[in-house]
Amino acid sequence: MSHRPRKRFGQNFLQDDSVIERIVGYVNPQPGERIVEIGPGQGALTRSILKRVGEMDAVELDRDLLEPLAKTCGPLGTLRIHNADVLKFDFRSLCHEPKCLRLVGNLPYNISTPLLFHLIEQADVIRDMHFMLQKEVVDRMAAGPGSKTFGRLSVMLQVSCDVTPLFDIGPEAFYPPPKVDSSVVRVLPKAQPLVDKDEMGSFGALVTAAFAQRRKTLRNNLREVMDIGVLENLGIDPGRRAETLSLDEFIALHRAAIDSTAHP
Ligand code: SAM
Repeated sequence: MSHRPRKRFGQNFLQDDSVIERIVGYVNPQPGERIVEIGPGQGALTRSILKRVGEMDAVELDRDLLEPLAKTCGPLGTLRIHNADVLKFDFRSLCHEPKCLRLVGNLPYNISTPLLFHLIEQADVIRDMHFMLQKEVVDRMAAGPGSKTFGRLSVMLQVSCDVTPLFDIGPEAFYPPPKVDSSVVRVLPKAQPLVDKDEMGSFGALVTAAFAQRRKTLRNNLREVMDIGVLENLGIDPGRRAETLSLDEFIALHRAAIDSTAHP
């Protein structure tokens, strides 16, 4: 296939069959399941999955890849290709039932963080996600408090999902090889997110403010958005940094901030 990989689409194609089979082994797709692949590219993962399930959906932005993809996958089953930007894609248009979709993808690394936020918003229709991402992003997704990589992405993802890193892969498994190491991660939306859906916006705003300047204390980062007395009342030292707060502390802080504005 004579396609020149495009950097702007984050195209690093998987070329190592053992890695492909290992990823698909973790997904363990079964006939009858609604599998959706993000960025099928030249079909490295698609062919392996389609052979097992017989029909699936895929969301691909690069038009030049669509025809060859349809051609190589056609004999293996029904592939419904959606030529769309996944950042704008409405996954609920595929299925309204709770937890009906299983998402898979070797994701374009250049959009991974906004894409994860876009997916969290639609977590109600997602049963699970298996993604290949830049290792550094997977480390941030799974990080716990006290770690240098613990930040906004860790908190926002972990209040709505369980995150399990599965294995790491070096650049040689791809064409062209990326400049970074990669990891495969499993993300399972929680049955009950730790923050209510209608409060996720204000929770996100608080977390963003808390991490606005990582080296600064909570007192400095939060003074514009809340009364610092709220922290003290909860027994949280305002001299701490956001990266030391547990998920439970973030949730308690958010709740107390809401209560303090409702009953000043
Ligand atoms: N799955 C293939 C593989 O493993 O070889 C390709 C993976 S490549 C890292 C990322 C794929 O995502 C490319 O096919 C690229 O064209 C596609 N892509 C990039 N940005 C996208 C977007 N915003 N929406 C949908 N697909 C996108």
